[in-house]
Amino acid sequence: MTTRTYPKRCGKCGQKAMQLTTLPYATTIEHDGRTYQVEIPALTVPRCTHCKAISIDDEADRQISAAFRREARLLTPEEIRHGRDKLALTQKQFANLLGVGEATVSRWETGAQIQQRAMDRFLRVCFGSPAAVEMLARDFQPSAKGA
Ligand SMILES: [Zn+2]
Repeated sequence: MTTRTYPKRCGKCGQKAMQLTTLPYATTIEHDGRTYQVEIPALTVPRCTHCKAISIDDEADRQISAAFRREARLLTPEEIRHGRDKLALTQKQFANLLGVGEATVSRWETGAQIQQRAMDRFLRVCFGSPAAVEMLARDFQPSAKGA
């Protein structure tokens, strides 16, 4: 594992006592009006050795997001990036095709944002159907295909 930095001071009791520990973790996540129970058998997270409070840092948040995507059966950031690469489109071209902002595509691919379920299905259509992509390119992005 690479070096992981996190605040050493506990946000709850104020002691400089945060240490990485691995523990089972469960939480609920709301997405698109549904509630998902997300369980992670071994979450590595900073925990206060003094008061036992845990702190969800970026890496822990990434682990939780990944578990949520599995639970909700949503495409992973890697799958989205891979699918776009196979279409040979830049983030900007792909964003234009889908009708979203370029920054949104970037956030999906870094995992900073989780796509809505309807968009997840739309992405699957685009990745699985060259005809769908051609139709969108023809109607909304004439420059991409050169006609
Ligand atoms: Zn503490």
